[in-house]
Order: sequence, then structure tokens, then C-alpha cells
Amino acid sequence: MANEDRGRHAWHPWAQAALLPLLLLSLQGIARQAPRAPIISITFDDGNADQLMAVPMLSRHGLKATFFVNAGRIGQDDYLTRGQLRSLQSAGHEIGGHSLSHPRLIALTEEELRREVCVDRSRLLAWGLSAQNFAYPFGEYDGSVQAMVRSCGYATARAVGNASRAAPYPPPDPYALAAPASVAETDAVEHLKRLVLDAERTGGWLILTFHHVCGSCGTYGFTPEKLSEFLDWLGPRNGQSLSVQTVAEATGTAPPQGVPPPPPQAPVAPSTAVRAYPNPWRADLHEGRRMTIDRLGAAGSVRIFTPSGRHVRTLSASGGAAAWDLADHSGTGVSSGLYLYVAVDGQGRLVSGTVTVIR
Ligand SMILES: [Zn+2]
Repeated sequence: MANEDRGRHAWHPWAQAALLPLLLLSLQGIARQAPRAPIISITFDDGNADQLMAVPMLSRHGLKATFFVNAGRIGQDDYLTRGQLRSLQSAGHEIGGHSLSHPRLIALTEEELRREVCVDRSRLLAWGLSAQNFAYPFGEYDGSVQAMVRSCGYATARAVGNASRAAPYPPPDPYALAAPASVAETDAVEHLKRLVLDAERTGGWLILTFHHVCGSCGTYGFTPEKLSEFLDWLGPRNGQSLSVQTVAEATGTAPPQGVPPPPPQAPVAPSTAVRAYPNPWRADLHEGRRMTIDRLGAAGSVRIFTPSGRHVRTLSASGGAAAWDLADHSGTGVSSGLYLYVAVDGQGRLVSGTVTVIR
């Protein structure tokens, strides 16, 4: 403070004249540096199985991507499976929501809209996926759609085709993240490079949207060769002139690395018919019996956590029931105490409850 004051009053006119050009030069320098290194997010929509081709290409450079998936299609032919989504997430990629069945959300009734957005998210959460961010199918939204996405618990939603270059960061409207049009079959690698180089000049957040990674497979297919060439060019720039981040990283919604996500805190429908029995499970009485959790969705799973959020087990619930064989190997390492289970019931609602184990 004292130095500044002294400085202001002590300069002789000749010194000011000499320093002025220097001052101008340094201001120009600041202006040149003003745009922060841009954030580049690589997003893949629709959960297409061919997107797995991109994973080794990303890994080669330590790049992480965001996969926006439709829970209603996961596990079907040509789509990613739950196991693959979990593996992607474990590898540091992000799994976001993209609605249950990929309809035009703006054409739905409120009830249909809630189902498409909230039930989709509940399923992803029940599968142990983070599902913090959403992408609008076809990039379409209006005020009601935005409000529903927010009320279902998403932190942001990405549109597409509503920008021609990097958008301002932080985003002015988290429920209208702007992204250039989806990468198309006719796009050259040079087109993507130009978008990135432009972002390096302007700063901001450039979100790239891919659909299929394959050759001659439709308008939104990008060949593995082209994707590989682009990522090999982009990779070395990461941490230098730009920063490649998932949407969750860019928006501060990523769970801390290496820590399992806390059990989802979705509202539990009071009328849920899901049962867990015997509860408490007692070693002295129930040695030969499994703890059963039933009246679940047909092809779901049950995730069991400690009260502090440590994931203990994932039980498969094919046929609407899951069994936890506490007496056998699946009880190994499970000590006496209270556990929380999270599952999806027959109506597709996320439900949770507690069970007690007494050894
Ligand atoms: Zn889509």
C-alpha cells in the first residue's frame, strides 16, 4: 500500500513518458492472456455400443469423456450395458442422463416428461452411476423441460446446435449449456481442429457432441480413424493450451476420485411395496436363509451401502427379487450393523430402506 502511494506521487514526468509504452505493452500482454485456457468437453450421446471404440483412444492421452445415455435402451442390442457404464465411470468417465427412451421432450405431458427424465435418472443412480448432468434429446427444450430436469435433480443440461463455437464459461444458464451441432459423417477432422483452435483464441467452453463411432453408418457417424486422428492431435494440448474435462468436472459436480458415490437421496415413495426379509437377519436364527429383497423392477439390481456411504454389495435382481446370502461367501466381510439398500421398484421408482445384520 505504502509503496503504491509513494509510486503514484513520486514519478517525474520523464519517467512517466518512458514507462508509458512499457505500461501499454504490459496491458496488451494482459489482454492477450485474458481468455483463460478453454475447457473442451467430449460428449457421446445415446449410449451406442460402438462408442466403446473411443475408449482406448481417449485412454491413450488420459482424456475423460461424458456419455449421455438412455436408461431405457441400456443392455439392448447395439447399446452399452450397465456393466460397461460402470466400468466407464470407474475409469473416470462420466455417465449422464439423456431420458428414458429419447423422445421429443417438448411434446410430452408433464407426467410423461417426469417419467422420461426422473425415472431415467433414478435408474442410473440405482445402477451406481453419477447422473449429475443431462443432455436434451435432439437438443430440444423449453421452460417446462428445463424446470423438470432441474426438479429431477440434475445440475446442468446440454443442448446441441445452439452455438457455433466455444460458449462463455461459466455458463450463463446451466440448463442450456451451448454446444455446436453434433459431429457429422461429413465433418473433416480439420473442422474439429478449427473449433478447438478458435476456442484457444477466445477461451470459454467448447462441448463436442458425438453419436456413433463407425464408418458409413449414418449422418452422425464419425469413423474410428478420424476420431483417433483428432484425439491424437488434441491429447498433447491437454494441460497446455486447453483443458479437457467432463461436464461434471467443468461444472464441479464430479464425485471425488476414488470415493464411491453416496447412496442416492431420492425421495422414497411412501407406498412402496418393496420388502426385505428376514430383517433383522440374525446369524443364530437365519444361518441357512438368505435375506431377500423383492417386489423390484424386473431387471434391476440392489446396491447395499453402509450408513456412511461405503458400497458393500450389488445384488442382481432378475425376476424382481434379490437375495443376499449372508451365511455364505457373499456375507464375507459384512459385520453386524445397519445397512442401506437402494433399488428400483416395479413402477420404476427409486426406493431405499434399511436392513440390519446381527452376527
Ligand atoms: Zn440423443
